[in-house]
Amino acid sequence: MEKRELIYEGKAKLLYNTDDKNLVIAEFKDDLTAFNGAKKDSEAGKGALNNKISTELFKMLAQNGVESHFIEMLDDNNMLCKKVDIIMIEVIVRNVATGSLSKNLGIPDGKILPFTLVEFDYKNDALGDPKLNDQHCLILELVKNEGELDLLRAMARQINDILRPFFATKGLNLVDFKLEFGRDENGNIILADEISPDNCRFWDLETGEKMDKDRFRQGLGGLKVAYEEVLKRIIG
Ligand code: 5GP
Repeated sequence: MEKRELIYEGKAKLLYNTDDKNLVIAEFKDDLTAFNGAKKDSEAGKGALNNKISTELFKMLAQNGVESHFIEMLDDNNMLCKKVDIIMIEVIVRNVATGSLSKNLGIPDGKILPFTLVEFDYKNDALGDPKLNDQHCLILELVKNEGELDLLRAMARQINDILRPFFATKGLNLVDFKLEFGRDENGNIILADEISPDNCRFWDLETGEKMDKDRFRQGLGGLKVAYEEVLKRIIG
């Protein structure tokens, strides 16, 4: 597969065209950003870890009937993916209150939610990824109709129902995570982006230790060791 021109640069990945019009290569970067880009750093090897973790999780989800853009891992930092039109909604799934949910609504940090919460954020850095309700999504024409919003929620819940017990068997509490979806060449909505400690929160089930990007956001250190441990537990 030939890597051709750069088509998009995000905060954590570069996207390249290939010699196949329906396929792209995602290159995972070592860059770390938080607070909408206000805090920046880089951690050698972080991109490769996220590529490997996402690869394992996309494969596991496929075995459980969840279609994604993942085709194959090409090398340490590069993943071959189906080309999709990204839906500009960040689908946030929460099992435990923390982060912006605790900050915005005063729900105590660490409180187990009575049911899994699915929220939508606008994928728009210039606006700081604000919260969206269904009507906002329709007014902004981020989806075609309400049925597509219900589909996004159903897919997000299905993914959570697969990932949460999987991580529990690995001694990790899947606290919350962010998903992105896109339309493939047939117009079908499929899972896209990545699933990694950059966009999930994992807390060790025994110690409560944070094993995700909060180590960077909160200046806790030990980010790479935590990501390595997540990968080790996933494949172990
Ligand atoms: P919160 O809204 O509490 O900041 O984040 C909720 C969950 O979604 C966390 O797992 C967080 O990592 C993820 N998340 C929310 N927004 C973003 C984003 O813009 N980029 C990334 N990588 N993850 C996000």
